[in-house]
Amino acid sequence: MLCGNGGRRPGPDNQKMLLGIARLASQSPLLEAKSGVEYFELPARSVLNRCWSPRAPFPWTINPYRGCEFGCRYCYARYTHGFLELDGGRDFEEKIYAKGGAAELLRRELGRAVAGHIAIGTATDPYQPAERRFRVTRSLLEVFARQRGRSLSITTKSDLVARDVDVLREVARGNVVHVNVTVTTLDAGLARKLEPRAPRPQLRLRAVRTLAGAGLSVGVFLNPILPGITDGIPNLDGVAAAAKAAGALWLGGGILFLMPEAQGVFFPFLEEHFPTLAPRYRQRFTHSPYLRGEYPAMIRRRVAKIREKHGLAAAPQDYRPELWPVEDDSQERQAMLPGFP
Ligand code: SF4
Repeated sequence: MLCGNGGRRPGPDNQKMLLGIARLASQSPLLEAKSGVEYFELPARSVLNRCWSPRAPFPWTINPYRGCEFGCRYCYARYTHGFLELDGGRDFEEKIYAKGGAAELLRRELGRAVAGHIAIGTATDPYQPAERRFRVTRSLLEVFARQRGRSLSITTKSDLVARDVDVLREVARGNVVHVNVTVTTLDAGLARKLEPRAPRPQLRLRAVRTLAGAGLSVGVFLNPILPGITDGIPNLDGVAAAAKAAGALWLGGGILFLMPEAQGVFFPFLEEHFPTLAPRYRQRFTHSPYLRGEYPAMIRRRVAKIREKHGLAAAPQDYRPELWPVEDDSQERQAMLPGFP
């Protein structure tokens, strides 16, 4: 996922609030436990979070859950469990916090002046297994369905998003809504290794087809493109072709970045499954979570070529819900969403 706060750690001003979150988390009632995973309700103080990262093309984020059961080996958001005084390894995957009272909070927060794009699922997956039971994401979409003139996006690796096609259509009647479905590879075996509990790639593509068939604006993210693992042309081209066939309109292609907590899970994973790559990853990522130099530029060119070949856009398409006024707002929207990765 792309960032809850752009991958930045909280500044000193937020420290007191985070200590409060850790205390709330420690007191959160257990809602349910199944096959090693425990679900808690975390009383939320806010749902809309301001995102200050210059890397993020949106000012507001919403993450209905803390922790993520999908357990992607490269997941950058693992460090966020540290705010709850939990670890970013097993705790992140096995102690899942659903935000309590989220819909009511969102209603109140939207009543204040909130301008600009709202991105749902920037840190953790809004359609992870907990959503099947607790429906926090759906409850938020029901709030947006009664709004007009908002701009929002949802990013997920789960086919569960197709469950909400009815409410998404309602949201889209009065607002701009984009859905990004992440597919890193079509190779189910590789996906199982990298993203052990996420739905199979074909199920995600089926969700793309369902959403596109319902007239919704949907694209596919290759993110994160993993050097030496998913960055080959056959892999990227295969996902692009399948995305296009399923009705995706755009293809995002962000390259892996690895925060220290993510390195703690990903490096041992590489040593087990890709031992020849492990030393190079360690060398490249130990001093910075971001790759620099010719490699990222080469991957951007590669993805751009593949997009062009398949007639896919680089960013969400200008999409005009039927209730919106007819005037040309393309310049304003371009300023609001200046190019997804
Ligand atoms: S889907 Fe994977 S990358 Fe996204 S939050 Fe869950 S574990 Fe992390």
